Amino acid sequence: MSALISVQNLVKRFGGLAAVDDCSLDVPKGSVTGLIGPNGAGKSTLFNIIAGALPPTSGRVLLEGRDITGMKPHRLFDMGVVRTFQIPHELGRMTVLENLMMVPPNQAGESLIAAWTAWGRVKRQDAVIRRKAMEVLDVLEITHVAGELAANLSGGQKKLLELGRTMMVDDCKLVLLDEPGAGVNRTLLVKLADVIRTLNRERGMTFCIIEHDMDLVAELCDPVIVMAQGTVLTQGTMAEIRANQTVLDAYLGS
Ligand code: ADP
Ligand code: MG
Repeated sequence: MSALISVQNLVKRFGGLAAVDDCSLDVPKGSVTGLIGPNGAGKSTLFNIIAGALPPTSGRVLLEGRDITGMKPHRLFDMGVVRTFQIPHELGRMTVLENLMMVPPNQAGESLIAAWTAWGRVKRQDAVIRRKAMEVLDVLEITHVAGELAANLSGGQKKLLELGRTMMVDDCKLVLLDEPGAGVNRTLLVKLADVIRTLNRERGMTFCIIEHDMDLVAELCDPVIVMAQGTVLTQGTMAEIRANQTVLDAYLGS
């Protein structure tokens, strides 16, 4: 499989600390790649750099061979690189349906920022966007909460809504998920895994997922990349990772 994202010798320093330290890895096109490792390994920092939220100290990030290092999040979004965010406070006061409808369709150079400020556009109640949002709710099986304020959803439902927002993006190539399973009950976790698998298989969306729930990782992810101290320790299938003593030491030693 060719690399959708290629991280090359990436370094991110915070003062004297190298949070990401000469890290190189590939996210294969069409994969659901897992990123695991002890707390402080640099996983979230790496995500922030790939998604354009943080500039690296050095190194490169390529998207299908094109250098995207340091590009702004809205540009990356337009290129199909989407990272989920917790539903921010302001969006909590809008309904679930409105939350989906205000995601820009990733066309005609419309940026996320522009769409967020141009609230009037949402008010037009674009029938096409509305239909699409209803389809997304249907896939996620949360149609019954369409009119509910996002703030009133359970933790697990919020995670589904976050995923739903990425489904509103046309030509979404890569979704970066930072601990999608955190605080989600078992039933919704199974649902979340189903949705990710469906989007991967049927829409060809590539995922890179940071997750602590090893059962979820084992169920969903191949390859699994293990980070420790800012760099890649090893990678392989979950079965290979589980049999790897170095990985166990990295977790227990931290
Ligand atoms: P992980 O997601 O694997 O738990 P992080 O990427 O969040 O790890 O953090 C890696 C290291 O970088 C940690 O030691 C963390 O304290 C540090 N770090 C992360 N973000 C910042 C920041 N904005 N300023 C200073 N240090 C940071
Ligand atoms: Mg983290």
